[in-house]
Amino acid sequence: MYRERLELTDRVAVVTGGSRGIGLAVVTALVEFGARVVIADVLDEAGEASAASFPDGRVSYVHLDVTDAGAVERTFADIAQRHGSIDVLVTSAGIANHQPSLELEREAWDRVLAVNATGTFWCAREAARHMQDRGGSIVAIGSMSGELANAPQRQAAYNASKGAVHLAVKSLAIEFAEQGIRVNAVAPGYVGTELTKQGVPDQWWDDWVRRTPMGRLGAPEEIGSLVAFLASDAASYMTGSVVLIDGGYAAW
Ligand code: NDP
Repeated sequence: MYRERLELTDRVAVVTGGSRGIGLAVVTALVEFGARVVIADVLDEAGEASAASFPDGRVSYVHLDVTDAGAVERTFADIAQRHGSIDVLVTSAGIANHQPSLELEREAWDRVLAVNATGTFWCAREAARHMQDRGGSIVAIGSMSGELANAPQRQAAYNASKGAVHLAVKSLAIEFAEQGIRVNAVAPGYVGTELTKQGVPDQWWDDWVRRTPMGRLGAPEEIGSLVAFLASDAASYMTGSVVLIDGGYAAW
């Protein structure tokens, strides 16, 4: 009985930012649990290649910039029509920014908020529109950085965007509970992906490892299995939760 509740057999899942990194690990976990997955990303070449690497056409790719509200609406409607439903949404599309606040340009602040916060909300809203009749599960990839401001980075925009995701998740969970739609967030600590490599001095990686009680960064697969659990009926009483997965970093 418990094992069956983890099954996602033939459920249709959309994973934004699923072309690589944490999103791709989520896609892999959802497929292993039985889902059919649509990757929605701007990284077309990697996304097409990732989708093609799964057998039996279980994963497909669609170009979607989550900051384009009209495109989000059209894409989710198209997926629901083509696949018959949208049962699971995972929002993993995200960008980082490490500029000192006094040097941060307005455009950069707007971009981080547009992708991480507004993009997440718009995708969640459109997915919920198609889940209303049958229920569903939405899992936002938030961040430990939505709960705490962590040295040595300077990331006011990123912190603000992920904090917004966490509170929007709680709000949406309340709004959509009656329709059987659960909304949760996972809040990873440091995970080794392109996002953590870009524009970051080696010294920061050393600091992250030293500050993490488990003494290492997380692997994308470790986030993937938590997300698949939250997407499944095994998490049927969980909604409005922000689940930290950080090797103990935030326990200090
Ligand atoms: P990656 O950069 O490896 O993957 C993010 C993906 O999202 C990329 O394919 C990226 O494409 C895509 N993307 C960016 N902007 C958009 C957009 N406007 N519309 C659609 N897709 C977009 O990062 P991670 O896998 O590390 O991060 C995934 C999520 O996890 C993010 O939300 C991140 O904030 C969060 N996170 C990551 C942590 C980490 O330590 N890695 C820790 C905590 C949270 P492109 O490369 O072209 O921008």
